Amino acid sequence: MTSAPKIGVLALQGDVREHVRSLEAVGASAVAVRRPAELEAVDALVVPGGESTTIWKLADAFELLDPLRMRVKSGMPTYGSCAGMILLADRIQGGIEGQQTLGGIDMVVRRNAFGRQVDSFEASLDFAGRGRLNAVFIRAPWVESVGADVEVLGVAEPGDRIVAVRQGPLLATSFHPELTGDTRVHSYFLDMVREL
Ligand code: GLN
Repeated sequence: MTSAPKIGVLALQGDVREHVRSLEAVGASAVAVRRPAELEAVDALVVPGGESTTIWKLADAFELLDPLRMRVKSGMPTYGSCAGMILLADRIQGGIEGQQTLGGIDMVVRRNAFGRQVDSFEASLDFAGRGRLNAVFIRAPWVESVGADVEVLGVAEPGDRIVAVRQGPLLATSFHPELTGDTRVHSYFLDMVREL
């Protein structure tokens, strides 16, 4: 891939604009995705933070659930932050009744694991061998367990919890790099997109 990859940001709910800005800062061409035709047109996708139950319900209402599942399954590079991590998990704990995910990463993610809104916090952690970054957690999930094909890219205090993972073309973080102005996670994702 020589020109700037076209990366969509799923724009049903959540911090879409911040991801668009971070992606453009690292040299991608970023577009909002709300319709199946827009999904078709992108090389890769970011599923933003927000509220996983709302994103899931809106994706269902916009007839995006099956197209999203199909593209993720067929290897489209996809990065999910926070609620997006929940959506990329094959299995979740603490979901609402009937809550579905797109799946793709062989892991169990516990929703609202670190606590509620008041328990939001920042932590310094090593990310994927690219140095320490200041990670912002907002009612964040953590990864309870991962399958053999999942690479752990980041672990946070308290409790040495897994908060960043990769499985092939899929990347997920419990935290919100789009809120800090530190573009290393987006840059890592762009490198993944260029590799594939
Ligand atoms: N707790 C939210 C959820 O369950 C995620 C929070 C976030 O994305 N900041 O989807």
